[in-house]
Parts: sequence; structure tokens; C-alpha cells
Amino acid sequence: MKIIVGNWKMNGNAEILAEMMTEIANINTDNRVILCVPYTLLRTGTGAVMIGAQNVSKYDMGAHTGDVSAAMVAATGASATLVGHSECRACLHDTNADVAMRAEQAIKNDLWPIICVGETAAERDTGLTHKIIELGVRESIPNNATNGNFIIAYEPRWAIGAGVIPSITEIAAAHKIIREILNEMGFDETPILYGASVSADNVNEIMSIKNVDGVLVGGASLKKDDFIPIITSVK
Ligand code: PEP
Repeated sequence: MKIIVGNWKMNGNAEILAEMMTEIANINTDNRVILCVPYTLLRTGTGAVMIGAQNVSKYDMGAHTGDVSAAMVAATGASATLVGHSECRACLHDTNADVAMRAEQAIKNDLWPIICVGETAAERDTGLTHKIIELGVRESIPNNATNGNFIIAYEPRWAIGAGVIPSITEIAAAHKIIREILNEMGFDETPILYGASVSADNVNEIMSIKNVDGVLVGGASLKKDDFIPIITSVK
């Protein structure tokens, strides 16, 4: 079973979500599909689709205007959440420690956190890619993590929404590092996803890379004609 996560960002509505869930229910796939939707669309998933949020608060509750707690997300029936997505790291100035707090809240509330790590263009240009990935993984995993109760998504930040992906060799090297760190930490069953500019055209090549257990898809998860072929072509 492979994992395919859609990140709708600030897009979609209830009608589009219902239609997408019906479409996915009608295809024959063994893959686990998780749709991470805006807070207002959170709901219980169906057998074929899990529903996730795109972030959760670092805190349990209290004076945090605009924030949404993991308990609140769980109460909608949703069962997963992204944490540490590049766009959240950028606009909320999240450090790896902040991301770990969010992931801890998610796990505490029985949500499956998808912890995103990856380098910016500047970090890539200065040869820091592997260091950033290593620190991202080691520092963003919370204390209450166990083997398999979280997911890591490698998302090179410069490639998100850009229509370009790293070379196959670069993706393979990044995933190898992540797998080695996870194994060393005792998390050998934790899935590792690749994300950034995944499409129906490149998904098979990406999925053929060792240690790639699934994909995180942004833009191409919004329309069924783009997303369904991705789900069906991943075996
Ligand atoms: C994302 O936002 O997580 C993402 C992978 O976006 P895109 O597929 O559009 O690059």
C-alpha cells in the first residue's frame, strides 16, 4: 500500500470535496489516500479517503486567536494533519521545535501527522540540503512519536508549485538519508513521502525511487482529472 496525500491549500468547497470523494471511492486502488483540506471542510473520511487538516496549533487550548487545536480537528472526524508545510514554516516562522510541538498535539489527539521537511532554494544553493533534511527530521519528530504513528514528507521547498522537481538522484539521496535517520531512531516503519510538483507525468518515475513510500500532491490534487490518474498509476 502506498500513501497519496492531496494538499488543497486554500482551495475547494464542500461540493468539490464530495465529488472528489465519490470519484476516489469508485476507483480500484489499494493506496491510502489522504485529502488535506481547509478547516471549514474537515469531516469524517470514507473507507477510501482519509481527511486531514493542513496544520494544527502547538497548544492545547486558550488565548490563541485564529489558531485551531488538534482536538478541534479530531472532533470533526478528520484523522490526519500536515505539520511543518513549507508555506506554514514561512508565514508562521515555525522552527523545527515548533513543528515538533504541533506534531505532538496531533499524536496526542489521535491524528496522523505528516511532518514536512525540506530545503529552501538558498539552502540548496549553499550546499545545505542534506544538513537541513537531517535537522528537519531529527528535530521535528515529537517525543510521543512511535514507529508508524507519523509520516515524513520530503518537500524541497524551492520545487513546490514550481513545475520542476529535483533529479532522481537527488530525490533518492534525500530519501536514503531520511530512511537511515528514521531507522536509527527506531522508526523503520515510518513512511516517507516525496512532495513538490508531482503530476501524472512524473509520479511513476518518482515512485520507482527506493525509499519513496508515496507522494504529497498540491496543485495536481485539486482537480479529479489530474488527481485520479496519479492515484491509479501508483501501484
Ligand atoms: C504542496 O503544497 O505540498 C505541494 C506539493 O504542492 P505542489 O504539488 O503544487 O508543488
